[in-house]
Amino acid sequence: MPLNRPLIVVLLLVLLAALALVKRGGREAELREGRILLGTLVEIQVPRGDRAARDAVTAAFAEMARIEALMSPHRPDSDVARLSAAEESLEVAPDTAEVFALGLDVAARSAGAFDLTLGRLKALWDLEGDNPRVPDDAEIAAALEGIGPGALRLDGRWVSKARPDLAVDLGGIAKGYAIDRAIAVLAGAGIEQASVNAGGDLRLLGSRGARPWRIGIRHPRSAEELLATLELSGRAVVTSGDYERFFEVDGRRYHHIFDPRSGYPASACQSVTLVADSAMLADALATAVFVLGPEKGLALLTEFPGVEALIVAADGATHATPGLAELKR
Ligand code: AMP
Ligand code: MG
Repeated sequence: MPLNRPLIVVLLLVLLAALALVKRGGREAELREGRILLGTLVEIQVPRGDRAARDAVTAAFAEMARIEALMSPHRPDSDVARLSAAEESLEVAPDTAEVFALGLDVAARSAGAFDLTLGRLKALWDLEGDNPRVPDDAEIAAALEGIGPGALRLDGRWVSKARPDLAVDLGGIAKGYAIDRAIAVLAGAGIEQASVNAGGDLRLLGSRGARPWRIGIRHPRSAEELLATLELSGRAVVTSGDYERFFEVDGRRYHHIFDPRSGYPASACQSVTLVADSAMLADALATAVFVLGPEKGLALLTEFPGVEALIVAADGATHATPGLAELKR
């Protein structure tokens, strides 16, 4: 039976509407938003484009901004700035106390390689400022005086300093905590798949559609070259590298990860990439392993089951935990 004209028109309209929906779905199927937070570009990706997903991403960014306001040393009213200025002790926010609890644990287990009391040393080198410089020996000795894992005590929400001039710095761990909080907010809003990436440090929620997320790990001496590609679902990948923030004098590189024993940038590694369930743990451990070097670093990681590492030592040789190979593609 031949189709009559009105029916053909209706069918065509239905077809066009369906095509428009498919196109719209395709365009909105993936949300990707970026903001400058914690001194870096934070990108949140959700393979869903609906209103609820957009609201969840906005809330996740707001949560990261809240953490930055608590833990940035540059904000005079942050917990970190107030604690550095305090004579002896300060009651901090529950989030800050949680970060100190894990940070002090990693500090103790790494024999002080990870150190939350490097604030004076960091200010001295001024790596984040306009005039980074190599301090002289007397200045370094003064900045190291009285620091170390025993110089801070946490009792509930109270943080106590062993001496008034101790300046705290959560730069090696706070970004990881902020990433964990963003993931918690997304998950709490019913999002099942997401990636929160803060300048290359990231945590994943679920998989990406039906497949795992593919994460490239860059070579520390060549930004275009990939050291490895990992396939992961729901884990964190965090890197500490000597290429992230540095200056050079007479061909020598001075970067932002300090060895608390010498007061100089740690020299055993070019980069340390860690895979863990928590971005905060991966962040703290990446900095600790970077300072300890491959042998002592891998020994420390045996205390943390399920944490995998890919280390590029100072001589360019790579070292990895046995479990890393299973994540590589
Ligand atoms: P990350 O990139 O996570 O390794 O962190 C580097 C930042 O952590 C630096 O910019 C400092 O704020 C801080 N930091 C540097 N050296 C250490 C250390 N040995 N232990 C803990 N934090 C450190
Ligand atoms: Mg770190």
